[in-house]
Amino acid sequence: MPELPEVESLAEFLREHAVGRAIAGVDVVAFQALKTFDPPPTALGGLTVTKVARHGKFLDLDCDGVHLIFHLARGGWLRWREDLTGARPVRPGKGPLAVRVRFAPDDDGAAPGFELTEAGTQKRLAVYVTDDPATVPGIAALGPDPLSPGFTAETLKAIVGGNRTQIKGLLRDQKVIAGIGNAYSDEVLHVARMSPFKIASSLTDAQIADLYEAIVTTLRDAVERSRGLAAKDLKSEKKSGLRVHGRTGQKCEVCGDTVREVSFADSSLQYCPTCQTGGKPLADRRMSKLLK
Ligand SMILES: [Zn+2]
Repeated sequence: MPELPEVESLAEFLREHAVGRAIAGVDVVAFQALKTFDPPPTALGGLTVTKVARHGKFLDLDCDGVHLIFHLARGGWLRWREDLTGARPVRPGKGPLAVRVRFAPDDDGAAPGFELTEAGTQKRLAVYVTDDPATVPGIAALGPDPLSPGFTAETLKAIVGGNRTQIKGLLRDQKVIAGIGNAYSDEVLHVARMSPFKIASSLTDAQIADLYEAIVTTLRDAVERSRGLAAKDLKSEKKSGLRVHGRTGQKCEVCGDTVREVSFADSSLQYCPTCQTGGKPLADRRMSKLLK
């Protein structure tokens, strides 16, 4: 799932490649992905992309005041196409293609564009066409952006103070902090040397300062690494830069211990016992079931 760093890179990519282009048409293939009906996607035809913004994990193309907004969810991705002139017309079906955005042809006759695709059977990719991004419920509810100048250690202190939830869940909650998901919350907690199950309100001031540093440096480094990469290369870059997420059974590069995981019905988290939990492996329900 693309998180803040990948979505930020996609936003930069679109700023470079899409701003200034006129939209020839927006073809919605996966009807369930479109969450708004007024204005219709046809309203974007003829408009020029003037600005690209990111709100948490949402991407927002401002087209002369009409916004095309999308959230890639777990299996969604953006694929840039240099020339869609010969592309087959889109038909609703079972394929991964959800939306195709076509731009007006360049002087050389090539008509570039991009496609939103979604892998897997769970279709969660969401597309909105609106005059005001704040009308998208997921955007209206977003917490502060951790890369915005206004996000300080004090902001984080106010967030964790009195919050009796586990820190892993808190970091992933878009209403609390915008843009961090399952992968980067694992990474942040490893950098901060903190158990994912630690209760937020139990953090000391020193731990809050460490956690703040870990959030900002982890995200900023990931944005830096993926800067300038083509959309198609972002996924492998994300994977190669991760320290614990998705690395169960591999060596922790900091201490040499084995990265472990805790699995849940719909997801799993990874951590290093030596770095994060005083050397003690966390209980894993699936593992204990197997051992019974
Ligand atoms: Zn370690």
